[in-house]
Amino acid sequence: MKSLNITCPYCSNAETMEWDGLYKPVYVHCGYCGKKYIAEPAANGVNCLKPEEADCCSDPDCRELEMGAGAED
Ligand SMILES: [Zn+2]
Repeated sequence: MKSLNITCPYCSNAETMEWDGLYKPVYVHCGYCGKKYIAEPAANGVNCLKPEEADCCSDPDCRELEMGAGAED
């Protein structure tokens, strides 16, 4: 696995995360302030977003809802 450098959008704490190589957003819990934020790997780095500021396509939960909707009911 590759490690990516990420920065907490709340407290600017620099951390690293293990990356599975997929360009999909994941939730990260900051090791310093403990808040949850979104890290979205991109071609030129990692976007670190506060969940309340993220678009639906950058929000892991929201994506899951959209992709799971209507599959089985
Ligand atoms: Zn933090």
